[in-house]
Amino acid sequence: MSYDPDNIFAKILRGEIPSHKIYEDEHSLAFMDVMPQVDGHCLVIPKERFRGLLDADATVFVHMMPVVQKVAKAAVKAMAADGFQLRQYNEHAAGQTVFHLHFHILPMKEGVPLQPHTGKMVDHAGLAVMAQRIRSELT
Ligand code: 5GP
Repeated sequence: MSYDPDNIFAKILRGEIPSHKIYEDEHSLAFMDVMPQVDGHCLVIPKERFRGLLDADATVFVHMMPVVQKVAKAAVKAMAADGFQLRQYNEHAAGQTVFHLHFHILPMKEGVPLQPHTGKMVDHAGLAVMAQRIRSELT
């Protein structure tokens, strides 16, 4: 399967559609998931074009994983979470819906389950508040 340059995250990277950014550097971008399964649900993507984990040039992880750790730390703190899940899906059969490599960061509280994926976008004001809270905890 090839990379579709018109996928939604490619559009976010090109600034063609808005996103609530948390962190950005030369190689990676972190932003809020617009259909969060839990408060603070955010995504980290590489700027390079890869469909998933298997077609990625392995060097991308050298740049991305410190960003995943940095954003996860901030998200856990900002949401006063007790832990977090790191999720990453590859291909439709495995639940991938956006075909640009990404990691989900899902802050988890003791006894609070994830919401099912409703397919409904939440309001942007709420996402902006979440993004600001996470940004303020970045170190
Ligand atoms: P996947 O199922 O491919 O691992 O996850 C894709 C994620 O992208 C989903 O959690 C979905 O809510 C999120 N998503 C889909 N469209 C948009 C969008 O336009 N903006 C943002 N920020 N997230 C999106």
